[in-house]
Amino acid sequence: MSSHDTADSGSPANGVISPAALGGSPIPEMEYPRRWTRPVKVGSFTIGGMAPVLVQSMITEDTRNIDACVRQVTQLYEAGCELVRVTAPTLRDADCIGRIKEELDRREVPVPLVADVHHEGQQIALQVAKYVDKVRINPGLYVFRKKSAGYEYTDDEIREQQELIEEQLVPLITVLKERDIALRIGVNHGSLSDRLTVMYGDTPEGMCQSALEFLEICERHGYRNLVISLKASRAAVMIQANRLMVKRMEERGMSYPLHLGVTEAGDGQYARIKSTIGIGTLLAEGIGDTIRVSLAEDPIHEIPVCYEILQGIGLRRTKTEFIACPGCGRTKFDLPTVLNEVRNATGHLKGLNIAVMGCIVNGPGEMADADYGYVGKGVGLISLYRGHEVVKNMVPADRGVSELIALLQADGRWEDPA
Ligand code: SF4
Repeated sequence: MSSHDTADSGSPANGVISPAALGGSPIPEMEYPRRWTRPVKVGSFTIGGMAPVLVQSMITEDTRNIDACVRQVTQLYEAGCELVRVTAPTLRDADCIGRIKEELDRREVPVPLVADVHHEGQQIALQVAKYVDKVRINPGLYVFRKKSAGYEYTDDEIREQQELIEEQLVPLITVLKERDIALRIGVNHGSLSDRLTVMYGDTPEGMCQSALEFLEICERHGYRNLVISLKASRAAVMIQANRLMVKRMEERGMSYPLHLGVTEAGDGQYARIKSTIGIGTLLAEGIGDTIRVSLAEDPIHEIPVCYEILQGIGLRRTKTEFIACPGCGRTKFDLPTVLNEVRNATGHLKGLNIAVMGCIVNGPGEMADADYGYVGKGVGLISLYRGHEVVKNMVPADRGVSELIALLQADGRWEDPA
């Protein structure tokens, strides 16, 4: 095996992972060309390999406020967050993370903790690595050197900086190896090192080279529990950078998992759309092993968005999948109201596909892979379908939802809401 030995035991020969291996209840007949990555253990979870795409977030409380941090981590965990990040701006904060971890363990909150280390964070990273399941460093800031604008680095200066990075990274690698914990090399478009910006410009290539420098040092020292992220506030930049990173890793025989996110996305609907474009586009191409939707809101709001992206792409199932036409002149009932009624009654049936379609002309054909369909038949009448077969015809619309529930019960597909 080469020095880039990825030792990915269980890697499928064709690089395609079967839906059954992805967790949740993916659409059975779909095959996901998910990129095979090296599995990296983080606490009791795994990022990459055959593991489901993990949902993560970051708390906003002051790290020194132990009680508030424990409370927010717990809330995120209870909302479905599978990895929680906490910032470690100083050595004192690093020790506070140790106390947060201790308290979470005492309360039996098993969510893995990730410490976020930024500016000149060598000592902080060394300290916090004693407590957490994963450390995140930003290669653009880990060893920070900045020359005046337009400065041209000589080959000797470039080599010196690379040697300095290696010197500063090796002690951290030693601790990470001793504790068998993971490292995220988290590149941000907005904080590339001065040297790499001069060499490659403020580009996706510069972002990839920033990660590769650190990756190669880790590999030289026999450490491979690595996750990579390349984030940007513009979805298009983040998409290009991740695609390019996959290519650059493939050229080197590497297969490290990728953490996806659009950073500084803002808040509200626009932030959710930007994140969905960036994360969803890459997931649809099989790229990505863990995601964070960064919102300038309470981080608890990030979790449902993550799950909706994963459900929308068919990678995780956390609720019923609804298919509904927009309605048109052929629709003889109040489609939005009925869709809401059906959703309220059946939204807890994780794994089922239920269609609500406006008319009998196009509805049955358009609802494609639905398990059950509620289809408008005429004024005041609907039909219920199991797959493509009509099983209840000419049902009065005011009994439509209760008849649908009765059908699900008769088929053994019903369970009472929790
Ligand atoms: S399925 Fe029927 S009601 Fe719905 S949009 Fe198509 S034609 Fe209109």
